[in-house]
Amino acid sequence: MTYELNQKVKELVPYEPELGKFTVRLDANESFLPLHQDIKKDMMALVKKVALNRYPDSKSTDCCQAFADYYGIDSSFVTAGNGSDELIDLILGGFFARGEKLLITEPDFSMYRFYAQKAELQVISYQKTADFRIEPQALIDLAKKENCRGLIFSNPCNPTSQGLKKGALRMILKALPDTLVILDEAYMDFWNQSILSEAAEYDNLIILRTCSKAMGGAAIRLGFAVCPLPLTAAIRALKSPYNVNGLTQAAGLALLKRQDILKDALADILAGRGFLAGALTKLEQEWQDTLLAFSLVPESKTNFLVLRFRDKSKHREVADYLKRKKILIRCFPDFLRITVGSPEENQAFLAALRKMAALKKYQRKANNAPKNE
Ligand SMILES: *Cc1c(COP(=O)(O)O)cnc(C)c1O
Repeated sequence: MTYELNQKVKELVPYEPELGKFTVRLDANESFLPLHQDIKKDMMALVKKVALNRYPDSKSTDCCQAFADYYGIDSSFVTAGNGSDELIDLILGGFFARGEKLLITEPDFSMYRFYAQKAELQVISYQKTADFRIEPQALIDLAKKENCRGLIFSNPCNPTSQGLKKGALRMILKALPDTLVILDEAYMDFWNQSILSEAAEYDNLIILRTCSKAMGGAAIRLGFAVCPLPLTAAIRALKSPYNVNGLTQAAGLALLKRQDILKDALADILAGRGFLAGALTKLEQEWQDTLLAFSLVPESKTNFLVLRFRDKSKHREVADYLKRKKILIRCFPDFLRITVGSPEENQAFLAALRKMAALKKYQRKANNAPKNE
Protein backbone atom coordinates (compact mmCIF):
# COMPACT_ATOMS: atom_id res chain seq x y z
CA MET A 1 0.00 0.00 0.00
CA THR A 2 1.21 3.48 -0.74
CA TYR A 3 -0.09 6.77 0.55
CA GLU A 4 -2.43 8.48 -1.85
CA LEU A 5 -3.61 12.10 -1.79
CA ASN A 6 -7.35 12.51 -1.56
CA GLN A 7 -9.31 13.55 -4.59
CA LYS A 8 -10.08 17.02 -3.21
CA VAL A 9 -6.42 17.99 -2.86
CA LYS A 10 -5.60 16.52 -6.23
CA GLU A 11 -8.23 18.68 -7.89
CA LEU A 12 -7.30 21.98 -6.23
CA VAL A 13 -5.58 24.37 -8.59
CA PRO A 14 -3.27 26.52 -6.46
CA TYR A 15 -3.15 30.27 -6.92
CA GLU A 16 0.23 30.99 -8.41
CA PRO A 17 1.19 34.63 -8.63
CA GLU A 18 3.45 35.66 -11.49
CA LEU A 19 7.09 35.43 -10.41
CA GLY A 20 9.91 36.66 -12.58
CA LYS A 21 11.39 40.12 -12.86
CA PHE A 22 9.27 42.94 -14.18
CA THR A 23 10.05 46.64 -14.26
CA VAL A 24 6.41 47.64 -13.95
CA ARG A 25 3.91 45.57 -11.98
CA LEU A 26 0.30 46.57 -12.51
CA ASP A 27 -1.13 43.11 -11.97
CA ALA A 28 -1.98 42.65 -8.28
CA ASN A 29 -3.92 45.77 -7.23
CA GLU A 30 -1.31 46.74 -4.67
CA SER A 31 -0.70 50.37 -3.80
CA PHE A 32 2.12 51.81 -5.92
CA LEU A 33 3.22 53.94 -2.96
CA PRO A 34 5.98 52.57 -0.74
CA LEU A 35 4.98 52.76 2.89
CA HIS A 36 5.44 56.31 4.21
CA GLN A 37 8.69 56.96 6.12
CA ASP A 38 6.89 58.10 9.26
CA ILE A 39 4.83 54.93 9.35
CA LYS A 40 7.95 52.86 8.82
CA LYS A 41 9.64 54.63 11.71
CA ASP A 42 6.70 54.00 14.04
CA MET A 43 6.61 50.43 12.84
CA MET A 44 10.28 49.80 13.60
CA ALA A 45 9.88 51.26 17.07
CA LEU A 46 6.92 48.98 17.80
CA VAL A 47 8.53 45.92 16.25
CA LYS A 48 11.57 46.42 18.46
CA LYS A 49 9.37 46.13 21.53
CA VAL A 50 7.78 42.83 20.53
CA ALA A 51 8.71 40.03 22.96
CA LEU A 52 9.73 37.47 20.34
CA ASN A 53 10.00 34.64 22.86
CA ARG A 54 6.32 35.02 23.80
CA TYR A 55 3.16 34.18 21.91
CA PRO A 56 1.43 37.29 20.58
CA ASP A 57 -1.94 38.63 21.74
CA SER A 58 -4.36 36.03 20.40
CA LYS A 59 -7.08 38.64 19.90
CA SER A 60 -4.86 41.28 18.24
CA THR A 61 -6.57 43.70 20.61
CA ASP A 62 -4.59 46.84 19.78
CA CYS A 63 -4.86 46.29 16.04
CA CYS A 64 -8.60 45.68 16.23
CA GLN A 65 -9.00 48.83 18.32
CA ALA A 66 -6.95 50.91 15.86
CA PHE A 67 -8.99 49.50 12.97
CA ALA A 68 -12.24 50.28 14.79
CA ASP A 69 -11.05 53.84 15.55
CA TYR A 70 -10.03 54.35 11.94
CA TYR A 71 -13.53 53.55 10.71
CA GLY A 72 -15.47 54.84 13.69
CA ILE A 73 -16.96 51.50 14.73
CA ASP A 74 -17.03 49.40 17.92
CA SER A 75 -14.00 47.10 18.27
CA SER A 76 -16.08 44.31 19.82
CA PHE A 77 -17.35 43.56 16.30
CA VAL A 78 -13.83 43.24 14.85
CA THR A 79 -11.65 40.15 14.39
CA ALA A 80 -8.18 40.29 12.81
CA GLY A 81 -6.87 37.74 10.34
CA ASN A 82 -3.65 36.88 8.56
CA GLY A 83 -4.85 38.82 5.55
CA SER A 84 -8.52 38.74 4.64
CA ASP A 85 -7.66 35.63 2.66
CA GLU A 86 -7.27 33.71 5.91
CA LEU A 87 -10.68 34.94 7.02
CA ILE A 88 -12.35 33.83 3.78
CA ASP A 89 -10.79 30.39 4.19
CA LEU A 90 -11.83 30.22 7.82
CA ILE A 91 -15.40 31.36 7.25
CA LEU A 92 -16.08 29.13 4.23
CA GLY A 93 -14.47 26.20 6.04
CA GLY A 94 -16.17 26.79 9.38
CA PHE A 95 -19.64 28.24 8.84
CA PHE A 96 -20.80 25.70 6.29
CA ALA A 97 -21.10 21.96 6.19
CA ARG A 98 -19.76 19.91 3.33
CA GLY A 99 -22.02 20.01 0.30
CA GLU A 100 -23.93 23.12 1.33
CA LYS A 101 -24.59 25.68 -1.35
CA LEU A 102 -22.55 28.85 -1.62
CA LEU A 103 -23.61 31.49 -4.10
CA ILE A 104 -20.87 33.42 -5.86
CA THR A 105 -21.13 35.98 -8.65
CA GLU A 106 -19.18 35.88 -11.90
CA PRO A 107 -16.85 37.47 -12.57
CA ASP A 108 -15.54 37.99 -9.05
CA PHE A 109 -12.46 37.27 -6.88
CA SER A 110 -11.16 33.86 -7.94
CA MET A 111 -10.20 32.79 -4.42
CA TYR A 112 -13.86 32.39 -3.36
CA ARG A 113 -14.17 29.38 -5.63
CA PHE A 114 -10.84 28.02 -4.41
CA TYR A 115 -11.74 28.15 -0.71
CA ALA A 116 -15.24 26.86 -1.45
CA GLN A 117 -13.74 23.87 -3.22
CA LYS A 118 -11.37 23.32 -0.30
CA ALA A 119 -14.37 23.36 2.06
CA GLU A 120 -16.22 20.98 -0.28
CA LEU A 121 -19.10 23.38 -0.79
CA GLN A 122 -21.38 23.29 -3.76
CA VAL A 123 -20.84 26.48 -5.72
CA ILE A 124 -23.83 28.13 -7.35
CA SER A 125 -22.86 30.83 -9.78
CA TYR A 126 -24.73 34.02 -10.66
CA GLN A 127 -23.68 35.54 -13.96
CA LYS A 128 -23.45 39.35 -13.94
CA THR A 129 -24.87 41.38 -16.82
CA ALA A 130 -22.73 42.18 -19.87
CA ASP A 131 -21.78 45.50 -18.27
CA PHE A 132 -20.74 43.76 -15.03
CA ARG A 133 -23.79 44.68 -12.96
CA ILE A 134 -25.46 42.56 -10.33
CA GLU A 135 -29.24 42.76 -10.57
CA PRO A 136 -30.21 42.48 -6.90
CA GLN A 137 -33.60 40.86 -7.46
CA ALA A 138 -32.16 38.28 -9.85
CA LEU A 139 -29.45 37.44 -7.31
CA ILE A 140 -32.03 37.11 -4.54
CA ASP A 141 -34.25 34.92 -6.72
CA LEU A 142 -31.37 32.59 -7.52
CA ALA A 143 -30.30 32.37 -3.87
CA LYS A 144 -33.87 31.43 -2.88
CA LYS A 145 -34.45 29.05 -5.75
CA GLU A 146 -31.24 27.17 -4.97
CA ASN A 147 -31.69 27.46 -1.22
CA CYS A 148 -28.15 28.83 -0.80
CA ARG A 149 -26.72 28.84 2.73
CA GLY A 150 -24.17 31.50 1.88
CA LEU A 151 -23.41 34.32 -0.53
CA ILE A 152 -19.97 35.84 -1.00
CA PHE A 153 -19.00 38.72 -3.28
CA SER A 154 -16.65 41.68 -3.42
CA ASN A 155 -18.00 45.23 -3.39
CA PRO A 156 -16.67 47.11 -5.21
CA CYS A 157 -15.71 44.10 -7.24
CA ASN A 158 -12.31 42.76 -8.16
CA PRO A 159 -11.88 42.23 -11.12
CA THR A 160 -14.70 44.32 -12.66
CA SER A 161 -14.14 47.66 -10.80
CA GLN A 162 -17.93 48.05 -10.46
CA GLY A 163 -20.08 48.00 -7.36
CA LEU A 164 -23.46 47.83 -5.70
CA LYS A 165 -24.81 50.79 -3.75
CA LYS A 166 -25.92 50.64 -0.13
CA GLY A 167 -29.62 50.48 -0.96
CA ALA A 168 -29.17 47.35 -3.06
CA LEU A 169 -27.02 45.73 -0.37
CA ARG A 170 -29.63 46.37 2.31
CA MET A 171 -32.28 44.92 0.04
CA ILE A 172 -30.26 41.73 -0.47
CA LEU A 173 -29.53 41.36 3.25
CA LYS A 174 -33.16 41.76 4.21
CA ALA A 175 -34.44 39.46 1.48
CA LEU A 176 -32.11 36.62 2.52
CA PRO A 177 -32.40 36.51 6.33
CA ASP A 178 -31.27 32.90 6.63
CA THR A 179 -28.35 33.17 4.21
CA LEU A 180 -24.93 34.19 5.51
CA VAL A 181 -23.78 37.12 3.38
CA ILE A 182 -20.01 37.60 3.25
CA LEU A 183 -19.38 41.05 1.85
CA ASP A 184 -15.77 41.61 0.84
CA GLU A 185 -15.02 45.33 0.99
CA ALA A 186 -11.32 44.98 0.10
CA TYR A 187 -11.57 48.04 -2.19
CA MET A 188 -14.19 50.08 -0.35
CA ASP A 189 -11.60 52.69 0.72
CA PHE A 190 -11.80 53.82 -2.91
CA TRP A 191 -15.57 54.22 -2.90
CA ASN A 192 -18.21 55.58 -0.52
CA GLN A 193 -20.83 52.83 -0.35
CA SER A 194 -19.58 50.96 2.72
CA ILE A 195 -22.10 49.49 5.13
CA LEU A 196 -19.39 48.84 7.72
CA SER A 197 -21.12 51.01 10.29
CA GLU A 198 -24.31 48.93 9.88
CA ALA A 199 -22.59 45.55 10.13
CA ALA A 200 -23.87 44.76 13.61
CA GLU A 201 -27.49 45.46 12.62
CA TYR A 202 -27.74 42.33 10.48
CA ASP A 203 -27.38 38.93 12.04
CA ASN A 204 -26.46 37.36 8.68
CA LEU A 205 -23.63 39.67 7.59
CA ILE A 206 -19.84 39.47 7.74
CA ILE A 207 -17.88 42.33 6.19
CA LEU A 208 -14.23 41.80 5.25
CA ARG A 209 -11.58 44.48 5.04
CA THR A 210 -7.85 44.46 4.34
CA CYS A 211 -4.71 46.55 4.82
CA SER A 212 -3.39 45.22 1.50
CA LYS A 213 -4.93 47.58 -1.03
CA ALA A 214 -5.62 51.28 -0.34
CA MET A 215 -3.48 51.24 2.81
CA GLY A 216 -0.47 49.89 0.94
CA GLY A 217 0.37 47.15 3.44
CA ALA A 218 0.07 43.97 1.36
CA ALA A 219 3.25 42.46 2.79
CA ILE A 220 2.07 42.89 6.37
CA ARG A 221 -0.76 40.37 5.85
CA LEU A 222 -3.54 41.87 7.89
CA GLY A 223 -7.28 41.75 7.30
CA PHE A 224 -10.41 42.17 9.39
CA ALA A 225 -13.88 40.68 9.74
CA VAL A 226 -16.65 42.94 11.05
CA CYS A 227 -19.92 41.39 12.18
CA PRO A 228 -22.39 41.19 15.08
CA LEU A 229 -21.28 39.54 18.34
CA PRO A 230 -22.57 35.98 17.76
CA LEU A 231 -20.76 35.79 14.42
CA THR A 232 -17.66 37.43 15.90
CA ALA A 233 -17.63 34.81 18.63
CA ALA A 234 -17.91 32.08 16.00
CA ILE A 235 -15.01 33.43 13.93
CA ARG A 236 -12.84 33.74 17.04
CA ALA A 237 -13.74 30.17 18.00
CA LEU A 238 -12.79 28.90 14.56
CA LYS A 239 -9.46 30.66 14.14
CA SER A 240 -6.15 29.28 15.26
CA PRO A 241 -5.20 30.95 18.55
CA TYR A 242 -2.25 33.02 17.31
CA ASN A 243 -3.32 33.61 13.73
CA VAL A 244 -1.85 37.12 13.50
CA ASN A 245 1.84 37.14 14.39
CA GLY A 246 3.39 39.70 16.73
CA LEU A 247 5.36 41.51 14.03
CA THR A 248 2.22 41.95 11.94
CA GLN A 249 0.30 43.23 14.94
CA ALA A 250 3.00 45.83 15.60
CA ALA A 251 3.20 46.84 11.95
CA GLY A 252 -0.57 46.98 11.57
CA LEU A 253 -0.91 49.20 14.61
CA ALA A 254 1.63 51.68 13.24
CA LEU A 255 -0.21 51.70 9.90
CA LEU A 256 -3.75 52.09 11.21
CA LYS A 257 -2.81 54.92 13.56
CA ARG A 258 -1.86 57.20 10.69
CA GLN A 259 -5.19 58.16 9.20
CA ASP A 260 -3.65 61.45 7.98
CA ILE A 261 -0.96 59.77 5.88
CA LEU A 262 -3.30 57.11 4.55
CA LYS A 263 -5.80 59.75 3.40
CA ASP A 264 -3.05 61.50 1.40
CA ALA A 265 -2.00 58.21 -0.15
CA LEU A 266 -5.58 57.51 -1.16
CA ALA A 267 -5.80 60.90 -2.87
CA ASP A 268 -2.59 60.13 -4.81
CA ILE A 269 -3.97 56.81 -6.01
CA LEU A 270 -7.26 58.38 -7.07
CA ALA A 271 -5.39 61.11 -8.96
CA GLY A 272 -3.38 58.40 -10.73
CA ARG A 273 -6.59 56.63 -11.65
CA GLY A 274 -7.98 59.84 -13.09
CA PHE A 275 -4.89 60.34 -15.21
CA LEU A 276 -4.82 56.77 -16.48
CA ALA A 277 -8.56 56.75 -17.24
CA GLY A 278 -8.20 60.01 -19.17
CA ALA A 279 -5.32 58.69 -21.26
CA LEU A 280 -7.10 55.41 -21.98
CA THR A 281 -10.31 57.19 -22.97
CA LYS A 282 -8.29 59.05 -25.58
CA LEU A 283 -6.81 55.83 -26.95
CA GLU A 284 -10.27 54.28 -26.97
CA GLN A 285 -11.40 57.02 -29.36
CA GLU A 286 -8.23 56.96 -31.47
CA TRP A 287 -8.31 53.20 -31.98
CA GLN A 288 -11.99 52.62 -32.47
CA ASP A 289 -11.62 51.69 -36.15
CA THR A 290 -8.52 49.54 -35.75
CA LEU A 291 -7.88 45.94 -34.81
CA LEU A 292 -7.11 47.14 -31.30
CA ALA A 293 -10.52 48.69 -30.72
CA PHE A 294 -11.38 48.49 -27.04
CA SER A 295 -13.63 50.04 -24.47
CA LEU A 296 -12.71 51.21 -21.00
CA VAL A 297 -15.20 50.08 -18.37
CA PRO A 298 -16.36 53.46 -17.05
CA GLU A 299 -16.33 54.79 -13.50
CA SER A 300 -13.96 52.48 -11.69
CA LYS A 301 -14.69 52.34 -7.98
CA THR A 302 -11.32 50.75 -7.27
CA ASN A 303 -7.59 51.25 -7.85
CA PHE A 304 -7.64 49.48 -11.20
CA LEU A 305 -9.16 49.88 -14.63
CA VAL A 306 -10.73 47.33 -16.93
CA LEU A 307 -10.31 47.24 -20.71
CA ARG A 308 -12.35 45.14 -23.08
CA PHE A 309 -11.04 44.61 -26.59
CA ARG A 310 -13.61 44.12 -29.31
CA ASP A 311 -11.61 41.13 -30.52
CA LYS A 312 -11.25 38.91 -27.47
CA SER A 313 -8.08 37.29 -28.75
CA LYS A 314 -6.38 40.66 -28.23
CA HIS A 315 -6.46 40.34 -24.44
CA ARG A 316 -3.81 37.64 -24.42
CA GLU A 317 -1.94 39.33 -27.26
CA VAL A 318 -1.72 42.71 -25.52
CA ALA A 319 -0.81 41.17 -22.15
CA ASP A 320 1.93 39.06 -23.78
CA TYR A 321 3.33 42.04 -25.67
CA LEU A 322 3.53 44.07 -22.46
CA LYS A 323 5.07 41.14 -20.64
CA ARG A 324 7.89 41.02 -23.17
CA LYS A 325 8.45 44.71 -22.34
CA LYS A 326 8.64 43.71 -18.65
CA ILE A 327 5.28 45.29 -17.85
CA LEU A 328 2.84 43.04 -16.03
CA ILE A 329 -0.93 43.49 -16.08
CA ARG A 330 -3.65 40.94 -15.37
CA CYS A 331 -5.18 39.12 -18.30
CA PHE A 332 -8.64 37.53 -18.14
CA PRO A 333 -10.27 35.82 -21.13
CA ASP A 334 -12.77 38.67 -21.61
CA PHE A 335 -10.86 41.71 -20.38
CA LEU A 336 -7.63 43.18 -19.06
CA ARG A 337 -7.21 44.57 -15.56
CA ILE A 338 -4.64 47.30 -14.98
CA THR A 339 -3.75 48.47 -11.49
CA VAL A 340 -3.11 52.21 -11.16
CA GLY A 341 0.65 52.69 -10.89
CA SER A 342 2.96 55.58 -10.12
CA PRO A 343 3.03 58.38 -12.74
CA GLU A 344 6.16 56.79 -14.24
CA GLU A 345 4.63 53.32 -14.30
CA ASN A 346 1.42 54.60 -15.88
CA GLN A 347 3.45 56.40 -18.56
CA ALA A 348 5.54 53.31 -19.25
CA PHE A 349 2.39 51.23 -19.66
CA LEU A 350 0.77 53.77 -21.99
CA ALA A 351 3.95 54.16 -24.02
CA ALA A 352 4.21 50.40 -24.53
CA LEU A 353 0.56 50.21 -25.52
CA ARG A 354 1.00 52.99 -28.08
CA LYS A 355 4.10 51.32 -29.41
CA MET A 356 2.19 48.12 -29.93
CA ALA A 357 -0.59 49.95 -31.76
CA ALA A 358 2.01 51.53 -34.03
CA LEU A 359 3.03 48.10 -35.31
CA LYS A 360 1.92 47.70 -38.90
CA LYS A 361 -0.22 44.66 -38.29
CA TYR A 362 -2.54 46.49 -35.91
CA GLN A 363 -3.09 49.58 -38.03
CA ARG A 364 -5.28 47.92 -40.58
CA LYS A 365 -8.75 49.38 -40.32
CA ALA A 366 -11.26 46.90 -39.10
CA ASN A 367 -14.09 48.51 -41.01
CA ASN A 368 -16.60 45.76 -40.85
CA ALA A 369 -16.08 44.94 -37.20
CA PRO A 370 -19.18 45.72 -35.14
CA LYS A 371 -18.82 48.69 -32.83
CA ASN A 372 -19.76 48.97 -29.19
CA GLU A 373 -20.86 45.40 -28.91
C1 LIG B 1 -6.75 41.45 -2.60
C2 LIG B 1 -8.06 40.92 -2.22
C3 LIG B 1 -8.27 40.22 -1.03
C4 LIG B 1 -7.13 39.68 -0.21
O1 LIG B 1 -6.63 40.53 0.64
P1 LIG B 1 -5.54 40.08 1.73
O2 LIG B 1 -6.01 40.78 2.93
O3 LIG B 1 -4.25 40.57 1.20
O4 LIG B 1 -5.57 38.59 1.88
C5 LIG B 1 -9.55 39.86 -0.68
N1 LIG B 1 -10.59 40.13 -1.49
C6 LIG B 1 -10.43 40.76 -2.65
C7 LIG B 1 -11.62 41.00 -3.51
C8 LIG B 1 -9.16 41.16 -3.07
O5 LIG B 1 -9.00 41.73 -4.27
